[in-house]
Amino acid sequence: MMAVMCEYCMQHGAGGKWYLNAEHYTNEVVEKHDLRAFLLEQYTNFEQISVRPVGGFSPVGMDHTFRIPIIGRVVKKMAERMLHTHKPVHDPFKPKGHIGQVIPLEDAEEILRHCAAEPLIEKNCMCRYMTRGYKESCCINFGVMSEIIDKLPRFIPESEKYHLTRDEAIARFREHNRKGYIGTIWFGPFPYINNLCSCESPECAGLRPRVDFGIKSIYKAEYVVHYHPETCLGCGACVKQCPFGAISMDKASGRPVIDFEGCYGCGVCRHVCATDALFLVPRDEIPALAGRY
Ligand code: SF4
Ligand code: SF4
Ligand code: SF4
Repeated sequence: MMAVMCEYCMQHGAGGKWYLNAEHYTNEVVEKHDLRAFLLEQYTNFEQISVRPVGGFSPVGMDHTFRIPIIGRVVKKMAERMLHTHKPVHDPFKPKGHIGQVIPLEDAEEILRHCAAEPLIEKNCMCRYMTRGYKESCCINFGVMSEIIDKLPRFIPESEKYHLTRDEAIARFREHNRKGYIGTIWFGPFPYINNLCSCESPECAGLRPRVDFGIKSIYKAEYVVHYHPETCLGCGACVKQCPFGAISMDKASGRPVIDFEGCYGCGVCRHVCATDALFLVPRDEIPALAGRY
């Protein structure tokens, strides 16, 4: 049976997952699409992207706009089209072609080991900074993007070493993932992959449109979680760890119930299971979920 993958893997994965296609990480992609100056301008003005009007609509109070009948639906469609565009980008104040996917620890390790262009750096998460007012360094950048960020002091962690070897980057990502942060990988903009993030919901500006408003700003992972009932202790730790509320406890059986529709396949619930009862399976192996990202 032919595997069903998300449309990005079908179109840009060269037969595998789109984010494991090393071509998307190269400096050649940056030069070919003339993205160096674009990215410098975009990240120099990063905070403004969240307040400048796009297509006449201000992102400030956008949740209110989304709830207006008909207008809300039209604006959501416009936002989705902008995020998914493959057209050349010119305006650094618009997040055009900025689309991502949730990934588990194993795929992030594969990216950091084999795909990501050097140098690798870790920068302050701007989503958390803008929503909580404090800086936490947990976004890993690659190649040209790292060189650009290195010129912008507010992204640079003050107290930590931020130029990382591949092994150090993997160790940092693991640390974040074990805390329950959601691994995400991004085109920014298409077709250049330059950010491996460790996000929290609702702070992440990329996850929030999806989780709260159903806009496909990010795809669910290529996986969903399952568990072995025979090794599960019924402790409930996975329920607390899931950032998407996709696990609940069944009082009668004392066992977890996984909401496959709600599971993003991030895999972070596995880190708190003392008996390794939780495991990931490919999304397309669940017939009702095949092709639904
Ligand atoms: S995408 Fe995630 S890690 Fe990256 S800046 Fe936003 S919340 Fe932070
Ligand atoms: S954390 Fe593991 S042992 Fe505890 S309820 Fe979840 S699956 Fe069962
Ligand atoms: S149940 Fe799904 S969404 Fe929740 S933590 Fe586990 S893998 Fe992630």
